[in-house]
Amino acid sequence: MAKTRAEPDQFEGNTMRIAAGLILAGAVSLCASGAAWSQTSAPKGPATPQAAATPAPAAARPAKPPCANPDAIGIARVVEIDTTGGPGFGFEHFKQLDFLRDKEVVLTFDDGPWPVNTPSVLKTLAEECTTGIFFPIGKHATYFPEILKQVAAAGHTIGSHTWSHANLNNKKLTEDQRKEEIEKGISAVKWALGGTTFAPFFRFPALQHPPEMVTYLGTRNIAIFSCDLDSFDFKASKPQTVIDSVMKKLDKLGKGIVLMHDFQKHTAEALPELLHKLKATGYKVVAMRAKDPVQTLAQYDDQILKDAKLPTVSSRPVSSVVQTISE
Ligand SMILES: [Zn+2]
Repeated sequence: MAKTRAEPDQFEGNTMRIAAGLILAGAVSLCASGAAWSQTSAPKGPATPQAAATPAPAAARPAKPPCANPDAIGIARVVEIDTTGGPGFGFEHFKQLDFLRDKEVVLTFDDGPWPVNTPSVLKTLAEECTTGIFFPIGKHATYFPEILKQVAAAGHTIGSHTWSHANLNNKKLTEDQRKEEIEKGISAVKWALGGTTFAPFFRFPALQHPPEMVTYLGTRNIAIFSCDLDSFDFKASKPQTVIDSVMKKLDKLGKGIVLMHDFQKHTAEALPELLHKLKATGYKVVAMRAKDPVQTLAQYDDQILKDAKLPTVSSRPVSSVVQTISE
């Protein structure tokens, strides 16, 4: 494919990690188990930072569809996250919100959407009647919006992972550039999804958490996702390495938010057996949904259209575009 390829830096969790916390207690609430399958979906329309789209009430969301696979790992529990104040998840950086029970896992996938590998991950998750959280890179979302739409259509939770996968601890970046990386990433996902709402969930590239950006995300009511265990799948030389890495770390911790990459071929290939193993050893998948959708900022919506030269049409209502001035 002749697309410009923006290789993300493959250093997830590789370097020094900064413990930074801006945590609110009580951010996790348990939905009726199995009651919510799809992400909150709100009416389409021009979004402004102030005008929050109204999410469908939990009771109106579609129920979990029946599962044809009797051996599937499925979804054991659905939790809804109130992202007010920017709670942090994942014990590698944030220790306050210990909501997972013994043997519970949350599956997370970074750096997509990407041809072949992301659809393969989606296929496996569908066969296993289970779900994950996807943290797409903004640029990748603009290259492959149709694949990201498939992620949303399959009912997975979608967050964001910056515009270009920049390490936000890079001293060369100004504060405005760091904000821009975060905000353009969110706006790009919104553009790719064509108006479908998604979650105010964010993961820093390479798990590099500049304290001032942690604070900033708090003001934006966006939850920060570190992880409990890093699969280091981007370093794996074969699928089995991914499986062994995750199982070994999980057996030590007993539960956790698992960091993987739908961008990675070995991860896509490892996932069927990994899910079988998780099920066989008594692990259960927890789905994390957002209580309210993320709100993009209009200036960054405009900026990604310009920067990426994306096709667009104005979403202004006819009355604001066409005025009869004489008849
Ligand atoms: Zn990443």
